[in-house]
Amino acid sequence: MSKIEELTKLNQYWQKNCTCELKKTASQAVFGNGNAESQIVFIGEAPGKNEDEQGVPFVGSAGKFLEELLSYIGMSRTDVYITNIVKYRPPDNRDPLPEEKEACNEWLINELKIISPKLIIFLGRHSMTRFFPTEKISEVHGKLLIKNTDELGRQAFMPLYHPAAALYNGSMREILIKDFKKIPKALQEIS
Ligand code: URA
Repeated sequence: MSKIEELTKLNQYWQKNCTCELKKTASQAVFGNGNAESQIVFIGEAPGKNEDEQGVPFVGSAGKFLEELLSYIGMSRTDVYITNIVKYRPPDNRDPLPEEKEACNEWLINELKIISPKLIIFLGRHSMTRFFPTEKISEVHGKLLIKNTDELGRQAFMPLYHPAAALYNGSMREILIKDFKKIPKALQEIS
């Protein structure tokens, strides 16, 4: 079975069986999207209004900025795979609750196992703390972190600031652009 077929099966299963309470208020599940053969997976937080309407992750203003960031390293969203830790939109874009993250966890882990990327990039602290619960994003952003995980084995990660947080914050924006440009070298390092 191809990775796309496996992902389709996975999404069909979890769309039916996910116990996340956000299902009740969201319009639809927002599946991961992009190139299933990519070496890079980006993990955001949760869908916002535009994502909830369109059923695609990172299509609003944060998504436009992510596309701009990808262009700085000669990539587009069709070269990478983009997903979220929580697959349903939290009401009023509030932070996802621990139990909502937990309910969507197995879905995410199986998604990552299918894609098996070389590098997992966290967009913001919500996805980072899933794998690095005690780290602070202000201290580890832009760093290549390699860890033996229970679910994925030895895996390379890079935490970045969330594009939505950096969009209207000049200094954070500059840091995010600088960090983003470290991705090609990080990929080389782990190859
Ligand atoms: N922010 C996220 O974390 N995910 C999205 O899909 C959109 C905005």
